[in-house]
Amino acid sequence: MSSTYDAIILGAGHNGMILQAYLGRAGLKTVAIERRPVAGGGLSTLEDPRFPGFLHNTHAFFQRAITTMPWYADLDLARHGADYIEPELNVVLLTREGRALQWWTDFERTVASFAQFSTKDAATLRRWHDDFVPIVEDILAWEGRSPPLPPQERRRLLERSAEGRRLLAASERSPLEFVHEEFEHPTIQAGLLFFNGLREVDLRLRGFGHHIAALLASPAKAQMSRGGSAALSRALESAVRAGGGEIRLLTEPKRIATEQGRAIGIETAAGELIRARHVIASSLNPHQTFLDLLDPAMLPSELRAKVRGFQYNLLAPLFALNLNLREPPRYRAARDHPELEHAFMVIMGLDHVDQFPEIVRHHELGTIPPTVMWGACPTVFDPSQAPPGHHTAFMWEKLPYRLNGDPRHWDAERERHGAVMLDLWRQHAPNLEDAVLGSFTRSALDVERCLPNMREGDLLVGAFANGQIGYDRPFPGAGHYRTHLPGLYLCGSSSHPGGNITGLPGYNAAQIIFADLGLQADWAPPPFADRLLAL
Ligand SMILES: Cc1cc2nc3c(=O)[nH]c(=O)nc-3n(C[C@H](O)[C@H](O)[C@H](O)COP(=O)(O)OP(=O)(O)OC[C@H]3O[C@@H](n4cnc5c(N)ncnc54)[C@H](O)[C@@H]3O)c2cc1C
Repeated sequence: MSSTYDAIILGAGHNGMILQAYLGRAGLKTVAIERRPVAGGGLSTLEDPRFPGFLHNTHAFFQRAITTMPWYADLDLARHGADYIEPELNVVLLTREGRALQWWTDFERTVASFAQFSTKDAATLRRWHDDFVPIVEDILAWEGRSPPLPPQERRRLLERSAEGRRLLAASERSPLEFVHEEFEHPTIQAGLLFFNGLREVDLRLRGFGHHIAALLASPAKAQMSRGGSAALSRALESAVRAGGGEIRLLTEPKRIATEQGRAIGIETAAGELIRARHVIASSLNPHQTFLDLLDPAMLPSELRAKVRGFQYNLLAPLFALNLNLREPPRYRAARDHPELEHAFMVIMGLDHVDQFPEIVRHHELGTIPPTVMWGACPTVFDPSQAPPGHHTAFMWEKLPYRLNGDPRHWDAERERHGAVMLDLWRQHAPNLEDAVLGSFTRSALDVERCLPNMREGDLLVGAFANGQIGYDRPFPGAGHYRTHLPGLYLCGSSSHPGGNITGLPGYNAAQIIFADLGLQADWAPPPFADRLLAL
C-alpha cells in the first residue's frame, strides 16, 4: 500500500500542526504522522478516570501570551474554538512567613509589590523594564519569530544600534550574576532566578544574562486555555482540516525513505510507504529524526557525532501532583492579601536565592532537593474543568530524571513524593487537609513514556546551552530548520527558539519551507536582518 502527499509532518504536537496548517493554506496536500491516540503532544488535558468530569492538564498549562502569537491570528484559531484567560494576578511567590511577592499583568502593581520587599529593587525593576521594553519589542520578540541568523552576522547587526549593544552587554553576564549584581532582596533574587529556571536556562551560564532583563520588560504574561490545554490542540486540528490536512493517529514511522540523496517519504511501522513530493518535516528530537529514522549511510559521521552530543536539560524534568478538590486551596497568606483568592501561578518553598545551587547539586547527583513547587487551581478561572462546585489543582516540582541513577526508581518513589508535596501545600493552604477527593502523580519518566521526543523528561526537547541555541539549534549544520538531506526539515522544539508552547519553531520552519518551495508567504514577517538594519 502506498500513498503520496506534498508534505509529511512527523509528530502532531502544536509545532507540527502549525506548520501543517500553513502548508495546507497554501494548497499543499499534507499528512501528520502521530504515534499517540490523540494529537496535541504537550497540549494535553485528561479526565481522571476515577473522577468523571475532573480535568487535568498533564503537560503544558501556563502558556505565555498565546493570543499575541502571529500564528494564532493567521490561522484564525479563535474561530476554530481557542479561547484564552489571562489572570491579572499572574504569579505569586509565597514565603514561609506568609509574605507574597506578586507579578501582575499591570506593571505598576508589580512595582508596588517589589517595593514592599525593597524600594531599591523596585527602582531597579523599573529601570531595567524601561531600558529593555524597546529591546524586547524591536529585537527579541522578532528574533523568536524569525529563522535565526548566523551568530557572527547577528552580532555584527546588533552592534550597529544602541539597543543591540545594550542587549549584547546584558547578555555577557550569567543570569546568576545579573540577579546578584542588580537586585538585593533574597526573595526577589530567588523569584527572578525561578523564572529563569522555568525557561530552563542554566543560571550559571554566561551569555544568558539578558533573559532576566527581558523577563522584567516582557508584556508576555501567562495565559490558560479555556476548556483545558487540549482545547488549543483541537483548534489547531480544526485549522489543519480546514486546509485539507490529515492527521494519522496511532501511526509510527519506522524509517525515513531516501532516493538519490533526497528524503522522499516514510515507511510506517506497519510497513506502509507514504511518499512526500516536497517535504518531510520532523517535530521529533534529533536522536529520533537522525539516529532512529535515517539509514546510517545517509548520515555523515560528523553529523552523527553532533546528534549523539546533543544535550537535554538537566533541570527541565518535572514531577506533578494533581488533586481533585471539594474547594480551591485557601492560602493562609490570603488573610493579609485577599487578592490571593485569584492568584494564578503560585510558588511555594522558595525562600532564598541560596536554594538554587543546592537544587542544581541535587539534580547532578540524582537526589531529591527540599521541595520548591509551583502550580495553579485552573477551575478558579475556568469552572468547566471540574464538575459544578468542584475544583482541580496541581503542583509541579523540578526533580532529577535519573533518581538515584535510574529513572525507573520513580515508579516506586512517586506516591511517597506526592505526599511530601501535599504536606508543603497544606502548610500554606490548611483547608487541603479536608478538601482532597483524589490525587495522582506523574514523574518525568511518565512524561518520556507518553512523549518520547521529551527524552530524559526534557520538556523543552534540548538544553539551552551555548552551541545549542539560535542558528546552532539543535546543532551547527541543522539549524535554520533545513537538514543536510534535501527534502528533510526540522520543525519542533529542538529548533530555534526552543520548547514550550510558543509554536515558533513550527512557524519559523514554515517560513523556510515556503521560501524553498517558492510559495508566497504574505503572512511572514520581514527578514530579521532587515529589522536590525532599520534600528
Ligand atoms: C509536565 C510538563 C509541564 C509543562 N508545562 C508547560 C507550561 O506550563 N507551559 C509551556 O509553554 N510548556 C510547558 N511544557 C512544555 C511543552 O509541553 C513542550 O515544550 C511542547 O509541547 C513542545 O511542543 P512540540 O510541538 O515541539 O512537541 P510535542 O508537544 O511534544 O509534540 C510532539 C508530538 O510528536 C509525537 N511523537 C513523538 N515521538 C513520535 C514518533 N516516534 N512517531 C510519531 N509521533 C511521535 C508526540 O506524541 C507528540 O504528539 C510542559 C511539559 C511537561 C512535560
